[in-house]
Parts: sequence; C-alpha cells; structure tokens
Amino acid sequence: MQSYEFLKAWRERARTWQAKVPAPASMPNDVAMDGAVLAGDPMVTLVQPVLPADLFAGAVADVAGLLAAYRAGDEAKAPAAIAAVVGGASADDRAALVAAVLTEGGVAAWAAAHQVDPTLLGTVAGLALQPFMARFAVAVTAEAPLGMWRRNYCPTCGSPADVCRIDTDNIRMLHCPTCDTQWEHHRLTCVNCDTEDTQKVNILTVETLEPWRVEVCEVCGGYTKSLDQRHGGHLAMPSVDLFLEDARTLALDVLAEQEGYRRGGRVQ
Ligand SMILES: [Zn+2]
Ligand SMILES: [Zn+2]
Repeated sequence: MQSYEFLKAWRERARTWQAKVPAPASMPNDVAMDGAVLAGDPMVTLVQPVLPADLFAGAVADVAGLLAAYRAGDEAKAPAAIAAVVGGASADDRAALVAAVLTEGGVAAWAAAHQVDPTLLGTVAGLALQPFMARFAVAVTAEAPLGMWRRNYCPTCGSPADVCRIDTDNIRMLHCPTCDTQWEHHRLTCVNCDTEDTQKVNILTVETLEPWRVEVCEVCGGYTKSLDQRHGGHLAMPSVDLFLEDARTLALDVLAEQEGYRRGGRVQ
C-alpha cells in the first residue's frame, strides 16, 4: 500500500486524465446486456474500455513521477526510473505496454525487457488504469441495466469489491477499486460468502476511525470494511472517495487480520 498523501494526490490528478479518455465507440444492445446481468457476467465481457497507447503511457509515467516525488532518497529511484523509461518509450513500446497490462504476466515481462522494477510497475500501471476504467464505467453504467446486480464483484469490470458503505437509506453499496462503480448488495449478509445467518457476522471497531468499522464473518473467515453513513458528518456524502478511504483506514485491516480474518474470505 502506497502512502495516503501520494494516493490522494494521484486521485486528484486522475480526474484530469479521465477527462481525456474517450468512451467506447458503441454499446452492446439491451438483450445482450440483460443476458449478461442475469448470468452474472460483468459488462467488460461485452465491451472493452478504450486505452489509447500514448494516453496510457502518459498516465503511467505521471503516476511514477508523482510517486518519486512523494518518496525520499533511494526509495525514489525505482519510480523515477519507470517515469523515465515509460515517458521515453517508442510508439511500439507504448502499444506493447497497453497489451501487457491486459495480459496475465504481461507487465512483469514488459518490466524485465525494459529493466524496471516489475512489482512497482504493476502497482503503478494499476493506478494509471483507474481513470480509463472510471471513464469506461461512467459510459457503461449510464446504459446497462445494473439495478438488479447483487453479486460481490463489480458489474462493470468484474473486480472484487474492496469496501462498502451503508447509505442514509440503510442500503449497502459495494465499491469497485478498479473502476469506481458502486452497486447495491444485500444489507445483512456477509459480502464475501452471502451467509444470511446474522449471528455469524460481528463488528470490530477502532474508535478514531468511526463511522468506519469491520464486519467479520465466522462462516467464511472473511472481513469487509464498511462506512456507516446514517449518522451524517463529512463522510456521509455519496461522493466520498472510497478508494482513498480504504487507504486511510488501514488500522481496521490490521485489527481484522490480527483477529484471524482475511480480506475477501477464506482461500477455498
Ligand atoms: Zn469495476
Ligand atoms: Zn462470510
């Protein structure tokens, strides 16, 4: 996890990138979208985000440069190297970087070929993808019939939810860290395993982080951080940045993990 201050700076800058990203040229027809929702297939199986190579490479170099600015001494060298290599990449190498980010293991191979830190490039590329995926999500959620979607993964891009919020109408909204889509989920069930036995779901809190809390589940061993917005305050806005909040409330993850729970439930 990168520092909160760096992530906050990136999320602000990402809005500028998002404004430059084109929407998909066309959307699937209603029958195809209805079918996908019923089958539990996210919309990305029908239509893909637009990832222009120059724009994406620019975003990757921007994230890396920003990260270097938030680090000191030797720690800044690896992100600075990524910013230089990606910033100066040829058109072919930029196109290869886009292909790499869409392929399992692709980013590590691109990093090896260009002698930059593969793990860090993966992190940086993941952050750089956010404005492209968010633009895609805005286009998709405007047209797709996602109101009935109750799964624990994103209806737009398929990523697992990171955190959730209970809104002022007592509705639980899950959040996608990749594309920022939010969607409704059953209020009283475990997000990870869908158990409806409320006796098996308990709450852990850290006083200074209220109204954030952790829901832990005895059935699957998983936990989910949840923001209770029913009591107002500055975190009660629907527009609160849940990706940033996830980073800010790391102490809740530490608590849940100390108690033996894991994010996303037990490995099956
Ligand atoms: Zn998503
Ligand atoms: Zn569970």
